[in-house]
Amino acid sequence: MFFNNFKKIVIKIGSSTLVDKTGKPKKIWLEDFAKDIKFLIGKKKQVVIVSSGAIAMGCEYLKINKKNLKVDESQAVASIGQIKLMDFYKKIFDKNKIKISQILLTLDDTEQRRRSINARRTVDNLLKMGIVPIVNENDTTATTEIKYGDNDRLAARVSQIISADCLILLSDVDGLYTDNPKKNKKTKFIKIVNEIDENIKRYATKTENFYGSGGMKTKIDAAKICQLSGCHMIIANGNVKKPISKIINNKKFTLFLPKVSKLDARKQWIIGSIAPKGEVIIDNGAENAIKNGKSLLPAGVKKINGTFEKGDHILVKNQDSVECARGLTSFSSLEIEKIKGCHSSKIKNILGYSSREEIIHKDDLVKV
Ligand code: GLU
Repeated sequence: MFFNNFKKIVIKIGSSTLVDKTGKPKKIWLEDFAKDIKFLIGKKKQVVIVSSGAIAMGCEYLKINKKNLKVDESQAVASIGQIKLMDFYKKIFDKNKIKISQILLTLDDTEQRRRSINARRTVDNLLKMGIVPIVNENDTTATTEIKYGDNDRLAARVSQIISADCLILLSDVDGLYTDNPKKNKKTKFIKIVNEIDENIKRYATKTENFYGSGGMKTKIDAAKICQLSGCHMIIANGNVKKPISKIINNKKFTLFLPKVSKLDARKQWIIGSIAPKGEVIIDNGAENAIKNGKSLLPAGVKKINGTFEKGDHILVKNQDSVECARGLTSFSSLEIEKIKGCHSSKIKNILGYSSREEIIHKDDLVKV
């Protein structure tokens, strides 16, 4: 079975899987889930869990309603709930002799290259020690501008950074449907996705209200990151007994296959960027050059959107505003504003200092 080939597996657990409607942690569910994890460890798999539930458990502890919380209040609640969450895992995993650790990440930990390499090293060391790391966003310090906001994309970014073979998103639905199954009886279930094309995006939009908090959009965004990192991704129903055993026994789930050609680690990190700082619109000639593996030169840049600094992640879009590449810019947005449309030989004269010739060097550029 395809699952046998996976060595490093990331499992994302949503709040609605871990906590019931009244906010109480689902003890029996987690006890069964721990057996699933034990089974995977027995098969020599390395497992990382990305778990939501800090805010939900904090609310339950304080007996307050999540809906009435302001952002800064939910940050405070997360700091209370995170220890309840880990306590819940620790007690049940201890009984099953599974050792765990806690990793709280902020956006900068994955979006700055050096920090992402550091995070990878820590996870690698933990896995070597036979630990199951449990990751969540550091909700207590993250503010709106510097937040993943959903654990689907966080889990995909973690999978990409640690070179996981498979990410499993445990959700409150079986997988991806062509339409909302509650409204349309003729809706079809999609078992395998090769390419995230316009159809898949349309299905995700049509079924948006059917899916839990993160919705299907964040799951498709997560799938895109995984596909380009050579990582399989599965969406499966977590609200069942032993959901991992059900996947292994080939029950209902949607599988997103990775793209065949695997990029090197640095390019995977560039393409999986969660928070690009801006974008440049380029002409047809530059688009063709990028398709042929060339760098992006100032001459091909028509317009800049956003404010960014040298070294930031930016999107490259064509004349139809369709994203065609991503990369790390060699110039700030202010500098590009001055040199756009010019031949590279003019850069020094215009800026008054010498620098690189390319807006994005081919080594820092990845086609989408
Ligand atoms: N980090 C949030 C929490 O632990 C959840 C985010 C999400 O569910 O996507 O409550």
